[in-house]
Amino acid sequence: MIQDLHSHTYYSFCGGDTPEQVAEAAIKGGIDVLGITDHNTGVCYCRLDFYTAPDAQRFGGTAERTLRRYYDHINLIREKYRDKIEIKRGIELNTTDDGRNPLPDSADISYYDYCLVECLDSDCTVTRGDIFAYAKRCGTPLVGIAHTDLFRHIRSRGEDPYEYFCRMAEENIFWEMNVSYDSIHNYRVHGYMLDFFADEEKQDIVRRSGALVSIGFDGHRVGDYLPDRIREYNEKLHALGIKRPFEK
Ligand SMILES: [Zn+2]
Ligand SMILES: [Zn+2]
Repeated sequence: MIQDLHSHTYYSFCGGDTPEQVAEAAIKGGIDVLGITDHNTGVCYCRLDFYTAPDAQRFGGTAERTLRRYYDHINLIREKYRDKIEIKRGIELNTTDDGRNPLPDSADISYYDYCLVECLDSDCTVTRGDIFAYAKRCGTPLVGIAHTDLFRHIRSRGEDPYEYFCRMAEENIFWEMNVSYDSIHNYRVHGYMLDFFADEEKQDIVRRSGALVSIGFDGHRVGDYLPDRIREYNEKLHALGIKRPFEK
């Protein structure tokens, strides 16, 4: 079962395609489970000019409506393609504490299938580096840690990696391996991902803990999509005996 749990549509300021185009590219690429995870900043503010306006915070009350509207749209896409692909309704959360990036405290996303949390290891994040507390605030059945060198993060908190991953497994928190290779990211490859697939000790810790690991392309343009790359890394995880979210 091939999963891509990280993708963007035009709901993200940086995304270029309709949800249909993203779904169809995944179907064509042989993906079985596709997670659509637009940036909360795009979903909640809809327009870049609105988001960047100095008084954008005044409109925080619209977040509930726009979160629901985005979910409803992705849900329609899920229904439309349900015989061809399983689409998960996700959202990627920027947690940088600059007053407008993070979800407003009142915003409910618990009805989404999952969320991806980014900036966990940033110096100024509303998570304060604590994914366990923030996952509770998110309230989704599954929470993924994206764009993060988790082993480095765990070490910086003075915690034991095995214990940390065990707790992740217990609390339905997974680690996303971002395998992006596209124009919008200047063909940058995440070092933590390469490192993980080269380090048997780290693989062993994650496997023994039972923590889930996902693969995501972080696609922003269907023209750049490399489904074979997604397949390759899904197969690597499978060969390592590491479980993925939504695996049956
Ligand atoms: Zn983006
Ligand atoms: Zn992303």
